[in-house]
Amino acid sequence: MQIINPATEEIIAQIKDDSEASCLQKFNQLQLAQPAWKQKFLEERIQIVSGFSALLQKNLEVLAAVLSSEVGKPLQQSRNEIKGASTRIKWLVDNAPKYLADEQMKSESGLEEKISYEPLGVICNISAWNYPYLVGVNVFVPALLAGNAVMYKPSEYSTLTGLEIEKFLKQAGVPENIFQLAAGGPEVGEHLLNLPFDGYFFTGSYKTGKHIYEKCASKMVPCQCELGGKDPLYVASDIADIKSVAAATADGAFYNNGQSCCAVERIYVHADVYDKYVEEFTKEVNSWKIGAPTEEGVYIGPISRKTQLNVLSHQVDEAKQKGATVLTGGKVISRKGYYFEPTVLVNVNHQMSVMKDESFGPVIGIMKVKDDNEAVSLMEDTEYGLTASVYSSKKDRAEKILGQLNTGTAYWNCCDRVSAALPWSGRKHSGFGSTLSHAGLRAFVKPKAYHLVS
Ligand code: NAD
Repeated sequence: MQIINPATEEIIAQIKDDSEASCLQKFNQLQLAQPAWKQKFLEERIQIVSGFSALLQKNLEVLAAVLSSEVGKPLQQSRNEIKGASTRIKWLVDNAPKYLADEQMKSESGLEEKISYEPLGVICNISAWNYPYLVGVNVFVPALLAGNAVMYKPSEYSTLTGLEIEKFLKQAGVPENIFQLAAGGPEVGEHLLNLPFDGYFFTGSYKTGKHIYEKCASKMVPCQCELGGKDPLYVASDIADIKSVAAATADGAFYNNGQSCCAVERIYVHADVYDKYVEEFTKEVNSWKIGAPTEEGVYIGPISRKTQLNVLSHQVDEAKQKGATVLTGGKVISRKGYYFEPTVLVNVNHQMSVMKDESFGPVIGIMKVKDDNEAVSLMEDTEYGLTASVYSSKKDRAEKILGQLNTGTAYWNCCDRVSAALPWSGRKHSGFGSTLSHAGLRAFVKPKAYHLVS
C-alpha cells in the first residue's frame, strides 16, 4: 500500500497490507489474550488508557505532522484533533467506573437483583480517515476500558496515524495481543468480516456500512454503524448578529475542508435575512487562506482523496446546469495536490445532487425559505439523519423545529460539534447505535442479569 501526501502527491510511505493469514493469526492472538485483560481491575485499564492520552499530548507536534502529511488537514486542525481526542478520553475514563460497575437493582428479603456488564470479547473496529484520532478513540478506548481486545483497521488513507496509535497504546501498557492493527483497504476489511469477532464497530460511508451490516447479520453479534450525513442548518428570521452567525456556520460547513460526518452540508435561510446572510457568508469564505497544510494560517488545505475532486466537480457542474449560481469557487485549483476551491452555491433546489448527496468536501448550497415550516420539510427531505442545526434567538422556536427532525443530534445556535457526554448516533442512512456518553461506554459490554436468592 502506498501512502500519498495529498498536498504534494508524493509517495511518503509504503506499507505491507495484512493478508488473510495474518488477520487470522492476529485474531487468534487477541482471542487468547482477552480473558486476562478482562480480569484486570478497571482502575488498571484506566491508568493505561490515561497514559496513552498523555503520550498523545507529549508527542503532539510529531503526531500532528504525520496526520497532516497523509490526510492533508492544516497542521493546526491536526493539533486540535489530537487535543480533542484527549478531552474525550478524559470523559470516558472519568465515567467508566460509574457506567461499567455492577448495578444493584434490588436487595430485600432474601432477594438480590443486579446487572453486571461483561465485555463483548474481541471486537473489530473498521474506521474512517477524516478524524482518525476522534472516531478511533470513540471505539477503541471504551472497548479497551470495558475489557475487550480490539482489532483496529484504520482507513487506508490514515494508516500512518493508525500505526502511531498502536505504538503509543502499547507504550502506555496495552498488552501486545490486546490491540492489533490490520493494515489495508477494503480487501483487508473483507478478511475481517470473515472472522468470528464478537462485535463490529464501523465508521465510514453508508455504502460500506450497509455491506458490513448485511455481512454481519448472520453472525448474531452486535454491529454498530456510524455513517455519513447531509446535515441541514436553518437560519431563522430572528437571529441577532447575522455577521457572526454567517462566520460560525461557514466554519461548520468548511472546517476540515467539509470532510466531517457532521459538517453542515446544506443551509436554509429565512427570506428576511437571506441577502445579508449570503453576503456575509461569502465574505467569510473569501477571507480564508488556501495553501499547504504546513503553512501557518492556512484554513483550506487539499482534500484527502483525489477521487473526491471528481465528485465535487460533478456536483457543482450538475447544479449549474440545473440553474444554480456559483457565488465563489466552483472548481479544482490548478496546482500540485488535491485542492478544490471553497464553493458557495445559491439558487439551488432538491433536484440537485449537491442538496441531496453527501458532498464531503468544501461545497455548500444555500437556499432561501419563506418560513419555519418550509425549512422543516426541506431539512427532513433526506435519506440521512445525523445532525441538524437551527440558529434563532428563541430557544423554544428552535426546539420546536428540532423536535420535528429525525436526527440523532440537534443543535441550537451551534453546529459541527461533538460532546463526549452525549451520545453520537445516526438515524436512517446515517447509521445506528451510539458511541460516546454512557450509551457509548455500554455499547462494548453485554449485561448479565443476576437473580440471587439467599
Ligand atoms: P469508507 O466507507 O470508504 O471506508 C471506511 C472504512 O471501511 C475504511 O477503513 C475502508 O478500508 C473500509 N472498507 C471499505 N470497503 C470495505 C469492505 N467491503 N469491507 C470491509 N471494510 C471496508 O468511508 P471513508 O471514506 O473512510 O469515510 C468517509 C465516510 O465516513 C463519510 O460518509 C463520513 O460521513 C463517514 N463518517 C461518519 C462518522 C460518524 O461518526 N457518523 C465519522 C466519520 C466519518
